[in-house]
Amino acid sequence: MQIGRLNLHLAIRAEATDTLRLYPDPQASALRDALATYHQVRPEQVFVGNGSDEVLAHAFAALLKHDAPLLFPDITYSFYPVYCRLFGIDWEAVPLDQAMQIRVADYDRPAGALILPNPNAPTGVALSRAEIAALLEQHPDAPVVIDEAYAEFAPGVSVVKLIREYPQLFVARTFSKVAGLASLRLGAVIANRDSLNTLRRATAPFPVNLAALVAAVAAVNDRKTMNGYLRDIARTRKWFEKELHALGVATYPSQCNFLLTSFGPAGPALFERLTRDGVMLRDRAKDIGPGVARISVGTQPEMERLIRKIKRYWKR
Ligand SMILES: *Cc1c(COP(=O)(O)O)cnc(C)c1O
Repeated sequence: MQIGRLNLHLAIRAEATDTLRLYPDPQASALRDALATYHQVRPEQVFVGNGSDEVLAHAFAALLKHDAPLLFPDITYSFYPVYCRLFGIDWEAVPLDQAMQIRVADYDRPAGALILPNPNAPTGVALSRAEIAALLEQHPDAPVVIDEAYAEFAPGVSVVKLIREYPQLFVARTFSKVAGLASLRLGAVIANRDSLNTLRRATAPFPVNLAALVAAVAAVNDRKTMNGYLRDIARTRKWFEKELHALGVATYPSQCNFLLTSFGPAGPALFERLTRDGVMLRDRAKDIGPGVARISVGTQPEMERLIRKIKRYWKR
């Protein structure tokens, strides 16, 4: 899937002329304006960079290092501990509960800062907006980064609009997942204007290259393709979940374009056969347990093929 493939090509081609000699707009104004409209905030509340991973690196370096530890879930985006080691940040991993949920009450402890994806990855499980607000109330003086890489897939959970009430809130966004633009490397942080100054001080003068700038603006404005994609993913995920349940496979309630599944003791043998047949599952034996895998939701025909293969290879 890619948002407005044709529009992207045309937008890049139109700009790829003489202007390639020049440095891009240091303010990335066209993109920040488009993102501000998309998120219903002001352009001063939008900070952009080369992928969410880069803006998160700036956040770790400039915001998340304190005497008290940084808190994040024990099962979560694998880059958080990597950045902690890189930037010398002390952290504490807070366990998820049995249902793979983040329990807000468990975060009510001394913390220098917090970061968590919502919905969480690789579980796909989301906290409600009220639960995130409760976290922010617990930590009025600690920076709280909510990584919304998958927020479009989970209607109603984004906390972007809470930046007005909570100056300590930083919301990280990306177009890698929802718009199929991973190769462009485009990420953003939405926060209160004064809070963003800390991040701005940490960055180089030209945050985003010209091709990414123009293509992203075209993508952000193509809501029709994005909404169609989101509807397809939700429908296919529901269908795929039902098929798995009919086979007796456990799933966690995902609001993303992937599903965390538990095949039990027969899982590892199944994953091996699927891998030999060219199907790549994200085996989570190492961090979650044997027989647990994260499966990406593709197109309906792709998922139908996958179910046929699972039925063929799975012997309980
Ligand atoms: C994919 C992902 C990112 C990184 O996104 P990029 O914009 O491609 O760097 C960050 N956080 C989470 C939770 C992700 O899943």
